[in-house]
Order: sequence, then structure tokens, then C-alpha cells
Amino acid sequence: MALSRKLLLIILDGVPERNFRRLFGNLEGWVKNGDARVWTHRAVLPSISGPCYASIHTGTPPQVHGVLANEIRFRIGLPDIFSEVTRAGGTTGAVTHTYWTEFFHRYPLDLVRDLEYDEPGAPITHGRFHSMTGYGHDNQMTPSDVDLFATLTMLTERFGIDYGILHTCTLDSMGHRFGHDCLAMDNACLHMDTMLAAFLPRWLKNGYEVIVTADHGQTDRGTHGGREDLQQDSALYWFGGGSGPPEGTVIDQLQLAPTILGRLGVPVPATMKARPFLA
Ligand SMILES: [Zn+2]
Repeated sequence: MALSRKLLLIILDGVPERNFRRLFGNLEGWVKNGDARVWTHRAVLPSISGPCYASIHTGTPPQVHGVLANEIRFRIGLPDIFSEVTRAGGTTGAVTHTYWTEFFHRYPLDLVRDLEYDEPGAPITHGRFHSMTGYGHDNQMTPSDVDLFATLTMLTERFGIDYGILHTCTLDSMGHRFGHDCLAMDNACLHMDTMLAAFLPRWLKNGYEVIVTADHGQTDRGTHGGREDLQQDSALYWFGGGSGPPEGTVIDQLQLAPTILGRLGVPVPATMKARPFLA
């Protein structure tokens, strides 16, 4: 059964709003040209990756879904974007860190079974994951982002997925390692913007609406987790239709899940209580 629209959610982990607005010239160029819109996206608290992933996809705060730290991982029992899209007869794809399959598909993780799977009818229909095992301050362990963008593009063109998510930790890892006020970060953002720009027009041409955002911000010292604009806020770029809020609006992270389901024409479950930001 075809859904009313198709949508891709691109999450660049750990990019503060300031870096998006200063350093992503392609994204900003599409906004300036009237092809995209941009708002502030404020993360839940704690503004830590795992809790943010779970809130982005379930539309509930960490105090409800229970993922309160990166070390707390389990198969979340709440409805989320994957479960509701497949329940409505759609297909989903994920090109992400393995946390996402643990939270929304199957736990515990089995590297051989779970790094790549195609499971019709399951919450994540087509999964392609990376674990970043061995990650640390001096050992980044993130794949090349161009490989991730190409893999998501493959899922859209080979399988025609209705909803797809791509998540990459490259810039979060760079921030933890180098901080944000340095040439290394300027260049990393430029590379990301350039790699993304090579694929985004193709996704739009293939009929997808696209969100580009982050899970949380990061300070110049490379930290996040707490309550502060730099730690919580990223930008949210919207390439699609519908009427959205005025420029300068702060979008709550819990609004993403019901908004995405609304665009896809999928019923929003009662657990997602926030108001969609696109009509
Ligand atoms: Zn993160």
C-alpha cells in the first residue's frame, strides 16, 4: 500500500545551530533561493545522543521512553516512526549507528545478524548499520559520509522505501575531539555539506521530502548533555511542502515524529502528544 508521500530524515549528529548556519553553504543557499526553509530545533534533556534518538523517533521525552543515557539501551516498547509506517503498509530504511536498530527493531545486537538485514513487515524493513566499535577521543571510527549517503540512495532506488533515515556521527566525533572553534571543524563541516549536496537533488527528483538536522548541539569545548542553547539547539532544514511556522520559530524535538508521520499520511499514535510543525 502506497503512503501519501515519501520522506527522508538526515541526522548529522552533534551540529550546533551556529555551525549549520555559518558553514553549510549549500543548505543555506537552498534556503536563500527559496527552495528550503530553516528553523531552530531544540533537543530534549538530557541533550545526549541516545536519549535524543529515542525522542526524535518516539515523540516522547527521555523521562517517558526511559533512555536516559547512552549506556541505557533496550528495545523501546513505544510506537515510533518505523513501527507506525510499517503498520500502515509502508516500507522503511535505516542507514545509521547500531543504536537505532537496538532501540526500534531488536535488542541485544548481534553484529553478524544485524549489521545488514532486509525483513519485510518488520519495523525497519531495510537496515544498514555501523557500530563504531572502538570509538574514542583519538580513534574516530566513523564511516565516510559519502558511503552512507550512497547507501541511503541505494535503498530509495532499489527498494522504493517510503521513509528512510540516515544518521552519521562524524561531526559529533570531530567536535568531541577538536572542539568547534578550529580549522579542523570548519573543514569537516565543508566536507559534509559538499557530500550531502551531491545527493540531495537526486532524492528530491525521486519524489522525497527531506529534513536535514542534528540530534543536539555542542559547545566550543565539544560537550553536550545539559541545558544550554549551544548544547541543545541545531538547525532544521525542510525541503518539502506544507505550511510551516514563521522564521525564527524554535521547534521542540518531540514535534518531529508526529510531523513526519503526518507528512506520510500515517495515523499519529496517542503517545506522540506534541503538535506537528507542518500542516
Ligand atoms: Zn549525538
